[in-house]
Amino acid sequence: MIRSAARQDAAPPHGVMFHHFRGEGHADGQGAITGQQLADMLDWLGPDRFLSPQDWTERALAGRLGPDDLCLTFDDALLCQSEIAAPVLKAYGLTGFWFVYSSVLEGRSERLELYRHFRSTRFGDVDEFYAAFQARLERSDHGAEARAALSDFQAERYLAQFDFYTDADRRFRFLRDRVLGPARYEALMDALMDEDDGFDLEQAAARLWMTEDHLLDLRDQGHVIGLHSYSHPTDLAALDEARQRDEYRRNHAHLTGLLGAAPTVMSHPCNAYDARTLKVLGELGIVMGFRSNLHDCGGGPLELPREDHGRIARQMGLL
Ligand SMILES: [Zn+2]
Repeated sequence: MIRSAARQDAAPPHGVMFHHFRGEGHADGQGAITGQQLADMLDWLGPDRFLSPQDWTERALAGRLGPDDLCLTFDDALLCQSEIAAPVLKAYGLTGFWFVYSSVLEGRSERLELYRHFRSTRFGDVDEFYAAFQARLERSDHGAEARAALSDFQAERYLAQFDFYTDADRRFRFLRDRVLGPARYEALMDALMDEDDGFDLEQAAARLWMTEDHLLDLRDQGHVIGLHSYSHPTDLAALDEARQRDEYRRNHAHLTGLLGAAPTVMSHPCNAYDARTLKVLGELGIVMGFRSNLHDCGGGPLELPREDHGRIARQMGLL
């Protein structure tokens, strides 16, 4: 039974942020929904509330968004989005924003997504993966350091703004982001994947991301393509200004070359940005950007709020 979207009423006008979809050719994974569930979600929220990306941009910049206005946003150039979500949008006559990081369209594969795919397909559930990760961490050179860091870790206080994370989610993110840091985390994950004889990395990578043709096709259908950094750092705000500028310049140059027009909109990867990021985006002519949550609204047109599709799915009882 699908209930009404009454709980949404308190939120300001915002984007709905989508990541993963599951179905034909796309494995289940944490937070992934089917095409039918997307349709149910559009019905639950009210399809008429969704403005086209062009309308949304115009009204947002003019300060004329209505309290019920929503827009659709898809982050990370995922193939499951163009194969599963795009046909549903087409059936509803809806279009949205697609925020793309360029490295994966220029032939690289980024670990963030590969790791997610690995943990979604090679373990019974995410907790089984967390257990394997922690066991591998224990066996590594960083085991003692991790144990010490966890001794006074309070899960409920870490990333408290993301209320849908479980304690295990929080502990894993703490170990990854605050204890290990990118290089040591990646070495550990690479070791886990290497040790798994049943995992074919190349084969996995080929089904994770869209190609440039997919993006051109979306653009031709009225969707709007925007920036999402070049390589999708998990903590872009931790980079110095030159590296932040490099991330967005390369992303901007790639999309401008592909689309024949400079993008003017973006979303912040992992919600990580600071005043330097906003300055860099201004230099590139970006007029509108989205955060990854509904908190700390009121920051201006480069910090518009979004609701995570996983939270809506949970309110609907889908996840
Ligand atoms: Zn992203």
